[in-house]
Amino acid sequence: MQRGPQPADFADVRATNLAVVLRYVRGHAPCSRAEIAAATGLNKATVSSLVADLIERRLLRETGLTEHRIGRPATMLVLDGSPYAAIGIEVNADYLTAVAIDLAGQQVLSWRRSFAGLASSPAQAATAIAALGRRAVNRVLKEDRRVLGLTVGVPGLVSPDGVVIMAPNLGWRDVNLRDIVNRALGEPGFPVAVDNDANLAVLAESRYGAFAGSQNLIYLTGEVGIGAGIISDGRPLRGHRGFPGEIGHITIDPQGPPCACGRRGCLEAIAGITAIIARVLPEVAGDGDITDLQPEVDEVVRRARSNDPAALHALEEVGRALGQGVSILANLLDPEVVVLGGYFVPLAPWLLPPVEAELRARRIGPEEGGAQVVASILDHGAAATGGAATVLDHVDAGRLPRL
Ligand SMILES: [Zn+2]
Repeated sequence: MQRGPQPADFADVRATNLAVVLRYVRGHAPCSRAEIAAATGLNKATVSSLVADLIERRLLRETGLTEHRIGRPATMLVLDGSPYAAIGIEVNADYLTAVAIDLAGQQVLSWRRSFAGLASSPAQAATAIAALGRRAVNRVLKEDRRVLGLTVGVPGLVSPDGVVIMAPNLGWRDVNLRDIVNRALGEPGFPVAVDNDANLAVLAESRYGAFAGSQNLIYLTGEVGIGAGIISDGRPLRGHRGFPGEIGHITIDPQGPPCACGRRGCLEAIAGITAIIARVLPEVAGDGDITDLQPEVDEVVRRARSNDPAALHALEEVGRALGQGVSILANLLDPEVVVLGGYFVPLAPWLLPPVEAELRARRIGPEEGGAQVVASILDHGAAATGGAATVLDHVDAGRLPRL
């Protein structure tokens, strides 16, 4: 039997309309009920009822402000959302971050913890991730907020149902991280999701970064691995299986150093942070398992600042390799801006000039201009912030917290 389209039931229409009003206020607050009605095409009585519902759920609140136009003064509405928080966790080879934001996108928590990613088995790593998640949840609950959801960002290929298919820099294959974290949190009443770190970080960059709102933006993670998160024509590029942007594994030098993926001369084997440290600080090689590379990065910065010729030469070479990778992305996708994140941020003064030089040299039609390359203004934890932002997106799409 063929089934045609079914009429949407009343609850669906109501949820959709609540989401329409919520999204409008997110974009235009402070605003009045009359403005919402005029902009959305919903009638005024419907808007009043929807707003009353959203106020009851404490997603909106009335401000003391009123707008005086002709007729009655209008009470202005803003997002409330203070009773809620969304949590993002970012997994790197050498550290974990946790970020929580409220419904208006204000950060309410930001933690960084060192983490021996490569020395941990997937089960040990999942335990550490879940432990950090549990502490973040407890902190949020202690502040009398409800958790709307938790999303974990991982540097690897992640299936839509939260299985990490492969994460070379963590040594993981087929790890059902969503299930493990969900169980470790005691099957909480909120959704737990897992996604690729670069996919999440580019969302944070496009919302809270210096080029917020850009329709064509690429974010490069600058960690042990290098991944690209891509917003193209205003939409996150997800690909067929959710695995786009694996720029870290394009071949820069077939005779180059071995990569964790099993090949040779991949971009991240040359320009990933462990590769940079190995070049600039050869004496620290073999110091043991990777846990929080920040002190080594600080030392690289110190040597570059003091014009150490070996350090400057190494950063110039790394920058050229990075520029080759960036120019492939730029020629394929024509972005407005390519944002370098993670450990690339403190190294940007030395990496950006060679990256820009390569980009100019490889640009098709240089006289037409091209992509800018900049360092992120978001701190470590862009992927964690993006993870929390995806939770808010679900609310904006109509999955409202229950009363
Ligand atoms: Zn590789």
